[in-house]
Amino acid sequence: MSELSFAELGLDPAVLEAVSAVGYETPSPIQAQAIPALLAGNHLLGVAQTGTGKTAAFALPLLSRIDASVTDPQILVLAPTRELAIQVAEAFTTYASKFRNFHVLPIYGGQDFYPQIKGLRRGAQVIVGTPGRMLDHLRKGTLKLDSLKALVLDEADEMLRMGFIDDVEAILAKTPENCQRALFSFPTRRSSDLQIKKVAQTYLRNATEVRIESETRTVERISQFVLPVYAERKLDALTRILEVEPIDAAIIFVRTKAETTMLAEKLSARGHAVAPLSGDLNQRQREQTVEDLKRGKKDIIIATDVAARGLDVSRIT
Ligand code: AMP
Repeated sequence: MSELSFAELGLDPAVLEAVSAVGYETPSPIQAQAIPALLAGNHLLGVAQTGTGKTAAFALPLLSRIDASVTDPQILVLAPTRELAIQVAEAFTTYASKFRNFHVLPIYGGQDFYPQIKGLRRGAQVIVGTPGRMLDHLRKGTLKLDSLKALVLDEADEMLRMGFIDDVEAILAKTPENCQRALFSFPTRRSSDLQIKKVAQTYLRNATEVRIESETRTVERISQFVLPVYAERKLDALTRILEVEPIDAAIIFVRTKAETTMLAEKLSARGHAVAPLSGDLNQRQREQTVEDLKRGKKDIIIATDVAARGLDVSRIT
């Protein structure tokens, strides 16, 4: 869709090398728009879903702007969940793979403080984490942001929805005045759009706005169909679909946490390798479930939309 190649966008040569090593050929639309703006040092408001390439849209230009030889935290990314934080940290690690002595550190609640403190002492140019734990480290003095060049709020709408606003604002208050800022949110309803606007107005300066409507992506990559069935026939219908469709891995969304376990038990009894995924599981269990899906130990995850948001598992057909 975009005319310019990655090379023409002006990324750091080491970043460019990493991009060709992962095999990306052309920038996605959000990358074509966000990369030049962030490279120019602008603040950014990005409205886009997971799957649009938004992580690279901020990671590639921000990595191009830091001094990779300095091991102080220079890029800080806040994410609503541990799963997203890990995913973003993995992406940064890939894009920074051609830098020497470079560290990306994920920091989230539910993990011991000690390994995180050790990682912080060793030095990391990029820190990715959930707001609560990040704030803990800032208050303890184990995380210092004096050299910070850029701050990213990923899935900011979700962080607001989860009640992280106070933590996020407390962290923002501890970042340097001249720090570059980017805020990403999903295309959503008007009410949460307004909330995001307010945060953007408070913390972004002359921000470039990039909006990628989700429909484009969905129409391109996902075929959709609706099967109207009576409630009591839903399980039969679902079982037939799973028999007939050539499915490698799948996520089935249900409305409630209770339904995740009920449906998982029923499909398991019918011979499927299936696991529930909901906020009822602790973070370690959730991480394990996603890992099982990635590695093929499970083929189907029954999830609530909240628990599964932001997951990127390439096996899913
Ligand atoms: P994201 O929206 O950041 O979750 O990215 C979705 C997926 O697209 C990830 O698996 C990326 O590795 C992949 N991706 C990102 N940018 C590109 C690109 N320019 N070309 C091909 N794949 C990409």
